[in-house]
Amino acid sequence: GATLGVLGGGQLGRMFAHAAQAMGYFTAVLDQDATSPAGLVSHHHVRTAYEDPQGLTELAQLCAAVTTEFENVPAGALNQLAASLPVSPAGASVAIAQDRAAEKAHFVKCGVPCAPYAVIESPEQLAAVNDALLPGILKTARMGYDGKGQIRVKTRAELVAGWQELGRVACVLEKMLPLAHECSVIVARGRDGTIVNLPVQRNLHRDGILAVTEVYEGNLPATQVEQAITAAKSVAIGLDYVGVLCVEFFVLDNGQLVVNEIAPRPHNSGHYSQNAMDVSQFELQVRSMTNLPLVQPRQHSATIMLNLLGDLWFKDSDTAQAPAWDQILALPGCHLHLYGKVDAKRARKMGHLNITAATPEQVRATALKAAGILGIAAF
Ligand code: ATP
Ligand code: MG
Ligand code: MG
Repeated sequence: GATLGVLGGGQLGRMFAHAAQAMGYFTAVLDQDATSPAGLVSHHHVRTAYEDPQGLTELAQLCAAVTTEFENVPAGALNQLAASLPVSPAGASVAIAQDRAAEKAHFVKCGVPCAPYAVIESPEQLAAVNDALLPGILKTARMGYDGKGQIRVKTRAELVAGWQELGRVACVLEKMLPLAHECSVIVARGRDGTIVNLPVQRNLHRDGILAVTEVYEGNLPATQVEQAITAAKSVAIGLDYVGVLCVEFFVLDNGQLVVNEIAPRPHNSGHYSQNAMDVSQFELQVRSMTNLPLVQPRQHSATIMLNLLGDLWFKDSDTAQAPAWDQILALPGCHLHLYGKVDAKRARKMGHLNITAATPEQVRATALKAAGILGIAAF
């Protein structure tokens, strides 16, 4: 079998490796951490920084094709690899996803509405910000995730202080929008332009971190479902994207759909696809990077995903202790996924629970029971 490579050794890389191995591939991971979740389950583990040309050369020699699971891999690393083997997504796509200013400019180019925003890279741009953008959220243009690198600002004084606090790095200020829901769509696009999508995911975030994803008939109004899929596809096609892409949206109080951001890789909100779809987002990643056919995935179960954050390990004591999985697994249709992370920390993604059932009512009933047992707030 050929070897497939992944830049980044986190849980997304681990689940990619599982999918690749199920299809007969060997896997190689590039990640500095000796106990990275993906490195632990792969045949090869190149332990260097993404910027290290020698590590990249070693990975290229091992692999037939390379993908990424970490969205902040330097685009230069992808470009170096692309000189000798197929790389998806391309460095140019990843570079846009890494920079909120470039990302928003791309949305505008594709004609997909996003929140009103301003780019702030200088004191002059800060002073020129339109009052209509307040109250807003100031976000670092690069490197933010799970709500990190963001400050909510109500007034001009808070905006000035916020930019100072973020280190006066390049930022975007987004108008704070009244959200009714959040949702996301995962698409996979092949080199030949074939594009398929997973159904629209309805997402609940808590403290800036994804907490719950619900996917079943009626999870969102039908008009928004159709709009979200069309918008996600046009964002991918506009990038000439190859691979798996997640597009996150806001649904506003007035029903308007607004794009939030993209992730150039499988996404936490797509994990349900492992148990509720006939093809998972990770299999789509394998297929797109190896030029295997992309067929439209079919959902066979109503599903809810609960994220398992490290907080659940510290419910009863200050020493980490895993929740009682036997009680959870006694419920019908519960699929436990743990990432093999060696130390639990609060707010750290340790695993997820996919719950499947025949109907939305049944899956909600089971998910609420599981949440109750685990101490996750009801939704
Ligand atoms: P991720 O881990 O998904 O990459 P992130 O750190 O890039 O997250 P965003 O997706 O930009 O962060 O924002 C995190 C959350 O904050 C959103 O899911 C939403 O709940 C809220 N949020 C962000 N921007 C806005 C906005 N303009 N108006 C209202 N709420 C917002
Ligand atoms: Mg993000
Ligand atoms: Mg987000």
